[in-house]
Amino acid sequence: MGRYFRRGLIGVIAGLLAAFPLAVTQETVIRGILLAVLVGVLYAIAFRPTPRAYADSAMTAAALGVPAWMVCGVILFPLFAGELPEWSNQGMRDLFPELIGWVLYGGALGLIGQALNDLALAKLGPEPEPPQAAPQEPKHIVILGGGFAGMTTAQNLEDVFGADRSVAFTLVSETNALLFTPMLAEVAGSSLEPSHISTPLRTSLRRTQVLRGRVSEVDLEARIVRIAVEGGGTRELVYDHVVFALGAVSNYLGLQNVEKLAFDFKSLLDAIRIRNHVIDMFEQADREKDMEVRREMLTFVIAGGGFAGVELAGALNDFSRGILADYPNISPADVHIVLVHARDRILPELSESLGRYAQESMAERGVTFRLNCRLSDCRPGCVVLSDGEVKSRTLVWTAGTAPNPLLKTLPIETDRRGGVIVESTMTVPGYAGVWSVGDCAALKDGKTGNPCPPTAQFALREARTLARNIKASMQGRPLTPFHFDSLGALCVVGHQTACAELTVPFARQKSMRFRGLLAWALWRGIYLGKLPGLERKVRVLTDWVIELFFPRDIVQTIDLR
Ligand SMILES: Cc1cc2nc3c(=O)[nH]c(=O)nc-3n(C[C@H](O)[C@H](O)[C@H](O)COP(=O)(O)OP(=O)(O)OC[C@H]3O[C@@H](n4cnc5c(N)ncnc54)[C@H](O)[C@@H]3O)c2cc1C
Repeated sequence: MGRYFRRGLIGVIAGLLAAFPLAVTQETVIRGILLAVLVGVLYAIAFRPTPRAYADSAMTAAALGVPAWMVCGVILFPLFAGELPEWSNQGMRDLFPELIGWVLYGGALGLIGQALNDLALAKLGPEPEPPQAAPQEPKHIVILGGGFAGMTTAQNLEDVFGADRSVAFTLVSETNALLFTPMLAEVAGSSLEPSHISTPLRTSLRRTQVLRGRVSEVDLEARIVRIAVEGGGTRELVYDHVVFALGAVSNYLGLQNVEKLAFDFKSLLDAIRIRNHVIDMFEQADREKDMEVRREMLTFVIAGGGFAGVELAGALNDFSRGILADYPNISPADVHIVLVHARDRILPELSESLGRYAQESMAERGVTFRLNCRLSDCRPGCVVLSDGEVKSRTLVWTAGTAPNPLLKTLPIETDRRGGVIVESTMTVPGYAGVWSVGDCAALKDGKTGNPCPPTAQFALREARTLARNIKASMQGRPLTPFHFDSLGALCVVGHQTACAELTVPFARQKSMRFRGLLAWALWRGIYLGKLPGLERKVRVLTDWVIELFFPRDIVQTIDLR
């Protein structure tokens, strides 16, 4: 039974049952009954009563009796009879019984109509709804990883899709904040508060749903991502498009003891642990009488002479020497920062002159270099190098990274390092709707064919192109190959000293080189500008100002995990 037929039938019955007041107050009984049925049908069709709302229905319908009386009794019927409406007091007084009839009829109609509706609801069920177009499920884009590549992809997707609600975005990440890695060494070196270099994902993203959890499995056939969430549960996300932005992990090159005993230097927790451990070593060394043991405690070995290793060595050197005033039993000669590197010079990413400058300037500040030397093993209290051993209780590994190992569990093609082989548009060949970006992608520049380096600088630009390509693929438009010319590189080598090599705009083959205080000021200015969020910038700037006037903080951060 159609909804309007059902309502009309209820109106006929209710109108008839409520007709008595109208029948007796209208000019003829027949007119009263006909009016009662007609108005009953109109009322039933127009008003859908709320179940069991008897008082409401009676009062509403009774109130409607007044305008019904005005329209019918005062205006229409006199007009049909060829008379003008009678507005005089006498005329109104003559029509007053009709008004009472309408109001009583209305009240009765409301009550009876309500009762019939409730009966119909109980016996026939709810009113049939008119057929509606099925709501379209939005296309679901799932981004795995909340680092530079993942978060920037989400931000750019929000921009390119704007208010278009036919797409929904979810970002899955192990941490709920983007870690600004260029400043990680400053956390280990106690210049910056740990949380000041992390930007919350939820505040940076407007319409992307953020899910904190660990991606444990991706079923590319069924298009499902499985996520291990806190408390031991698993969540499944079905996707139309999935973006792998899972970054990289430390690669220990098969050195199992190193993997077990060395500190990683990739996450915020790593930096906090290194700083805590260094302070621990100072606390123990300060009361240690045996000079050999004390030397072992105060020797800090860093493996890897790339940006991360050099910046960490510089920061730890400044930190260790800066806190000596708090440890009266330790002299500057007791502290050793040793940087181990397999090549003949550090910072191979920079030009040779800058690499040499960095090395000399760090050596002047007390850093020891072991170049052309490989780390081959380690034991508690000892680091084994290809040309000898170093007694040390601290080893930090920055000498190798590899794309996230989860990628190797997928049926997609990976390169020698384990990065997902992608087209220059960042699509994964053979799998529609699968994309990879950032450190976990083996991407070649669409113009030059050169491999894109695993840096934040590239990850950010890749993410922008990727967001546009995802939209283009959904609209059936051609995709854009990724191309970006590096802007240069900067590296802090110690307090108020850095190296910078910046590409000359419009002359990509040429670069400008800076060193010393100017380069250091450039580094701080550029990275402060790049740190996401005004609030974070203010916090970092405040830390830097505090650092100018006060000694380094040696309070140990509590490690809750
Ligand atoms: C100490 C250090 C200093 C650096 N300095 C610079 C610099 O000065 N300039 C520069 O350009 N680059 C620098 N880099 C490199 C830069 O950090 C990386 O290139 C960049 O972070 C790559 O971005 P990404 O999004 O691909 O990976 P990441 O930023 O590493 O992000 C990966 C994300 O995936 C998440 N994730 C991983 N596995 C899972 C999982 N199973 N489930 C859920 N989430 C997961 C992680 O939590 C993380 O949020 C530095 C790196 C380090 C370590």
